[in-house]
Amino acid sequence: MSLRRLEPIERYVAAISVVGLAIGAWIVAYGVEGEVHAATPAIAVLMLLMIAGEMYPIRVPLRDDAEEVTTSPAFMFATLLLSGPALAILAQAVASVLSDLRTGRVWWKAIFNVAQYALSIAGASAILVAIAPDLRFGDASTFGPHTFVATLAAGVASFFLNSLFVVVAVSVAQRVSIVREFRNNLGFHTATTMVLIAQGPLIALAASRSIVWVLLFVPGILAVYRTATISVAKEHLATHDSLTGLPNRMLFRDRLARMISEDGDARFAVMLIDLDGFKEVNDTLGHHIGDTLLCQVGQRLIEGLDGCNVVARLGGDEFAVVSAVPDRFAAAELGHHILEVLRQPFALQDFPFHVEASVGGAIYPEHASDLDALLQRADVAMYLAKEHGTGYETYTASNDRYSPRRLALLGELRRAIEEGELVLHYQPIADMRTGVVNRVEALVRWNHPEHGLIPPDEFIPLAEPTGLMGPLTRHVLDLAISQCRIWRDNGLELTVAVNVSARNVHYSELADDVATLLAKWSLPANALELEITESVLMSDPRRAREVLSSLNDLGVDTTLDDFGTGYSSLAYLKRLPVSQLKIDSSFVTNMATDDDDAAIVASIAGLARTLGLAVVAEGVESATIWHQLRELGCQFAQGYYLSRPLPADQITRWLEARGDRHRSAPLEPTPRIDAP
Ligand code: C2E
Ligand code: CA
Ligand code: CA
Repeated sequence: MSLRRLEPIERYVAAISVVGLAIGAWIVAYGVEGEVHAATPAIAVLMLLMIAGEMYPIRVPLRDDAEEVTTSPAFMFATLLLSGPALAILAQAVASVLSDLRTGRVWWKAIFNVAQYALSIAGASAILVAIAPDLRFGDASTFGPHTFVATLAAGVASFFLNSLFVVVAVSVAQRVSIVREFRNNLGFHTATTMVLIAQGPLIALAASRSIVWVLLFVPGILAVYRTATISVAKEHLATHDSLTGLPNRMLFRDRLARMISEDGDARFAVMLIDLDGFKEVNDTLGHHIGDTLLCQVGQRLIEGLDGCNVVARLGGDEFAVVSAVPDRFAAAELGHHILEVLRQPFALQDFPFHVEASVGGAIYPEHASDLDALLQRADVAMYLAKEHGTGYETYTASNDRYSPRRLALLGELRRAIEEGELVLHYQPIADMRTGVVNRVEALVRWNHPEHGLIPPDEFIPLAEPTGLMGPLTRHVLDLAISQCRIWRDNGLELTVAVNVSARNVHYSELADDVATLLAKWSLPANALELEITESVLMSDPRRAREVLSSLNDLGVDTTLDDFGTGYSSLAYLKRLPVSQLKIDSSFVTNMATDDDDAAIVASIAGLARTLGLAVVAEGVESATIWHQLRELGCQFAQGYYLSRPLPADQITRWLEARGDRHRSAPLEPTPRIDAP
């Protein structure tokens, strides 16, 4: 039989174990008889408390995890002071072995633990004897000038030796410097352990009087135990999703941030998982079944992906997984594995239920080196997986739509929203019968410090698949409503129309946001209108109708934007709680020269009349079109012929110059004003 060479860590553990066990055994063998002979019931209680402390550690919330703290150092030190090293080592050995059995630690680690405890207790005991040889804690007459110094030195030694053996083991195993490892280990543990050890002499003094005094320490410990348990539970609630018990978005980001900051060489993939058709499950089978499904999905992910660093639920039907991967091939493998794990049918109400998912992966640091960019790239990949129906996609920078420049922009968008770089321009909407303008559409632009004014078409479509549309729309609503407040305060009774996108309608609490913001600026619901594109409504009609109804309940009117480009059926339109249709500019702009377009506009106007909806034509660029539209019975018009979208101050001047609110007779519109 050939013996392989031992690794340094194995040699270290073996050496400490052998030496520690030998010294421990010798001390116990030599001293136990005398100590047992002199032992009081109070010492027995101390030993029991030592074991109990080790068996039932106090869980203290620390960042996302709970750190375990045991109270046994206090009782170990008290036992050492009052009785001697033999009983202290004996009880500590029993406590350590029982605790290691409880946590299922491997045998050699359990032995190492016993050995290093024996060594640190022996060291502390040697210091006690060296400084104050005659000291007997049970006998106050032996106390002298050295008592305090001896006790302090022994306490520090027992803590220091204990930490040293562990720190050296870790630094040998991980080949990092002992000093660095020591520094990492300081802090929380040092503080609590030192506090506990400092209790040792007090406990020893109390125990030397009577067992009753020792028992008085117990309620205090129980109180700490209870408080700690409660705060661990609270911490857990704040960082975990209550439905599935998985880490929530906050904790997920926290862990990810730590993985990025702690290990310079880390390589890992972030996988975002979105269930396809989950909303249908919720809508058709009910929220209760939806919740059950989410729980089962969470469970599946945990069980099926046990090598992963993090499995989290980010909200709704969105989950995330982080796992160390060497390259994009491994990432793709993981992505497909996730799909496979979710492909087995779920048991809902006792019948098998199939769930499809879309997974997008981005790799750190290959695709992004900061947290937000990484998540956003994974989000893009997920979006592509969904759009292409491929199930899984790894992020690729070469994807045209998400060119590096655009991605860089997207990466900046969150900050831009927070720092107020988004501005609104307003375009008037005129009543064609009277020429009066009492509505404007708010159109967002990004006033970028380097690139200047960026039009919405360059960043809204990028932001749409990401989680940024919620904050963006909230911000735009806030800007638009506050501007409306200013107008109304200055006697301009305007209504402002705001565009909302698919994400807003499908995922967020749009109606709640709207209600909150109207209340914030104390404006009535008729000060605001929302424009929703037809295609958004068609992609998830049920959900859209719900959202529209809740907006309706608030009293906020809604417009079907870009009408004519989608495929709304008449039957569907009839049931939809919208108040007007906005004919897409692609039909309007060319209607003077294109008969087909003119026919389409005419038929939409007719359709709207039948349904009792108002019609707005946008993209009106000339007087010819204006008159043509009026012939067709179109009520409202918007376009360059009237005015381009303008910043608030300019549009205010434009409006004031017209003096619409004093006017009652029908008027021709004033010629267009070009934007600067
Ligand atoms: P939209 O809602 O269809 O807005 C009308 C667009 O047509 C505006 O472009 C406007 O400047 C342009 N337009 C107005 N009159 C004329 C005209 O006579 N001729 C021509 N050729 N164009 C005209 P803009 O401002 O670049 O906005 C583009 C799109 O960006 C909007 O289309 C809307 O879908 C989106 N968008 C703008 N602001 C927001 C916002 O705050 N939130 C969301 N979700 N989307 C927005
Ligand atoms: Ca619009
Ligand atoms: Ca439009």
